[in-house]
Amino acid sequence: MRPATRAVHVGRPPHEVDQPLNVPITMASTYVAGGDREYGRYANPTWTAFEEALASLEGGEDGTTHCLAFSSGLAAVATVLDLVGSDQVVVAPRHAYNGTVMQLADLEARGRLRANLVDITDTAAVVAACEDAALVWLESPTNPAMEIADIAAITAAAHEAGARVVVDNTFATPILQRPLEDGVDLVVHSATKYLAGHSDVLLGALLTRDPELLAVLKGRRDLIGAIPGAFEAWLALRGLRTLPLRVERAQANAAELAVRLGAHPAVTEVRYPGFGAMISIVLGDAAAADRLTHGTALWVHATSLGGVESTFERRRRWASEPSTIPEGLVRLSVGVEDVEDLWEDLVAVLDR
Ligand SMILES: *Cc1c(COP(=O)(O)O)cnc(C)c1O
Repeated sequence: MRPATRAVHVGRPPHEVDQPLNVPITMASTYVAGGDREYGRYANPTWTAFEEALASLEGGEDGTTHCLAFSSGLAAVATVLDLVGSDQVVVAPRHAYNGTVMQLADLEARGRLRANLVDITDTAAVVAACEDAALVWLESPTNPAMEIADIAAITAAAHEAGARVVVDNTFATPILQRPLEDGVDLVVHSATKYLAGHSDVLLGALLTRDPELLAVLKGRRDLIGAIPGAFEAWLALRGLRTLPLRVERAQANAAELAVRLGAHPAVTEVRYPGFGAMISIVLGDAAAADRLTHGTALWVHATSLGGVESTFERRRRWASEPSTIPEGLVRLSVGVEDVEDLWEDLVAVLDR
């Protein structure tokens, strides 16, 4: 099956008389003893359906890719960073997702690891940094700088140096980028964003082809209890069914808007890597950016991204955003609306 078919069909009950088409929401804190499930912190059939569907999209049909769902993207991030020992180095993009950078800073301040934040576009420098690393964290494109990492080259260098490689694949989604095929050890997702896709659920996920790593991570999830709710997993699976369609439409909208925004005199810079539905634009200053984010009718001023509705925000309104991100940068999450309506709404403010 191709990805669009797998997105619709994997993780459903068998085609048998009286079976429901969708996996039920199993609300159970415990199970009759003696089987594989035992307790609600260890297993839930609704999580499993979501995990199987996402694993087939990130890793294909051969059943070697495994997925673990978490209560949020940052719960999944924390579970990975927990693998690192106290004197070990994590190499990560200086413009990684802000919550990831804040977790690294917090762990470093408490002596739990050492973080080396790098310019992820400088492949030679990242390769050199891999030498001392235990874990190499990649995000590509980065949020909100929209930088691209050479995943294959960095992964080869990291493995040479004995380091594990993780890719946060939230922005690209498995429809546009499958880092496990480049040999990375782990993929992390904020399923809150494109995978669920409707701005109504928080959920995270980890994916790996390494059975030993899977067992360690599952053990951490069992112990820490950073598990999703059954309803959240069900909502995310429902969203996942239309992921290929949503990505296709949102990406087409974004490509068109990137061209038009690039030609607008009020826009100093457009950062669009040529795929996906995230665009960052730079306006003259913070005030111009605030005028845009507060002046539209359709575009919603809100953090988060990846929903069917178009949203945007000026990232530097957050005190924790690095100063290397311009004050006038607005990050756009392009939705699946009609592109002409999206453009008219933006240009009405930009023209003012
Ligand atoms: C939102 C986000 C996260 C964190 O996920 P939550 O579900 O909000 O905890 C991690 N990485 C990226 C790239 C994100 O956009």
